[in-house]
Amino acid sequence: MSYRADPRLMSELKKYGAVNVESCFNCGNCTAVCPLSTEEDSFPRRMIRYAQIGMREKLLSSKELWLCYYCGECTATCPRQADPGEFMAAARRYAIAQYDRLGLARRLYTSAGFNALFLIVLTAALGVFLYSFHGPMATDALQLFQFMPSEVIHNLGVIAGILIAGTVLAGMINMIVRVGNEIKFVKGAPLNWLGAFWETIGEVLVKRRYRQDCEIDAIDQPWYYQKWFVHASILWGFLGLFTATALDYLLELLGIKPTGAWVPPWYPVRLLGTLAGILLMYGATVVIVRRLRQADEAAAHSTPSDWVFLALLWLGGMTGFALEVSIYLPQPGAWSYWMLLAHLVVVGELLVLLPFSKFAHAVYRIVALYVYALKPLPEQVAVAGTAE
Ligand code: SF4
Ligand code: SF4
Repeated sequence: MSYRADPRLMSELKKYGAVNVESCFNCGNCTAVCPLSTEEDSFPRRMIRYAQIGMREKLLSSKELWLCYYCGECTATCPRQADPGEFMAAARRYAIAQYDRLGLARRLYTSAGFNALFLIVLTAALGVFLYSFHGPMATDALQLFQFMPSEVIHNLGVIAGILIAGTVLAGMINMIVRVGNEIKFVKGAPLNWLGAFWETIGEVLVKRRYRQDCEIDAIDQPWYYQKWFVHASILWGFLGLFTATALDYLLELLGIKPTGAWVPPWYPVRLLGTLAGILLMYGATVVIVRRLRQADEAAAHSTPSDWVFLALLWLGGMTGFALEVSIYLPQPGAWSYWMLLAHLVVVGELLVLLPFSKFAHAVYRIVALYVYALKPLPEQVAVAGTAE
């Protein structure tokens, strides 16, 4: 396959945060120190080279972009301060913007003003829309779903879910087609479809490579403060909250428990939601503090879209906890109803931004890891070669 060089690629990437990479002189030190780079899937130097010579399509079809966890080890040891770790992060933002056909990701990643305006308009639109369905605020007992009917929330969630899934799927297909064109699978070598699936699930859920191979922060750090655990906390928290919400809805459909019915704090679905919320809040808080303190190479650069995502995660968790506390107060006030409205607005914003935020990174990473895991083992390739 032939590629046309795009001389504007480097200046494009700068808009996404790769501001120092021009000083790279291709020594390869970053690839040598990267704990996740292998002989076959080699990065970040190769990706930087693609950018330097304008190989846009090669960059966009590189699954290696998504194998990097931004541990910052390459940045810490680069002799030219070219910040290869941040280059990889910027290239991922650029790739998401290219996969997104709506053009929204590009605006959100490259303009702080657009980010702010989009958020203000979205907050106002969601707030007014939801409030237009509001019922009375009962004062004798807390009746959250009398104030905001659960059918409205469910129906809105389903519509948003379909639109978001469609947007993410379109981006994923765009990525898979590009990556698929690049991968040279050996004819006849068996692909491990199921094994790759389990390997990917294991990697995503327990961060095996991140935990075992990226040791830059494992020294002097307790396990609960290491990056893999902090990232996993956010993911586990999000998945736990999603599961608790889905189970709550299922219980209503089965006639076991209506949405909003009072249950004790140890009721299984409530307990799952509480534990997941604690994990999410823990992860989001640690990441925010690290970024504020610019604690390491990976936390030194934060784009407006990073801050928006983290702030929404944190606010979503906080308003959720405040709501939970209000349920168990003997005398809840009108603030509980406003807290519900605020919580729904923040969750709605997170959902709308999902295809363009760090959640999108997670989705693309899963696809890349799956393709990576599909690769036949060398001995299988050898057998296939002999058979031919
Ligand atoms: S980014 Fe730094 S370490 Fe990597 S090849 Fe360039 S100069 Fe060398
Ligand atoms: S940030 Fe870490 S994982 Fe990513 S390329 Fe650099 S050393 Fe490798």
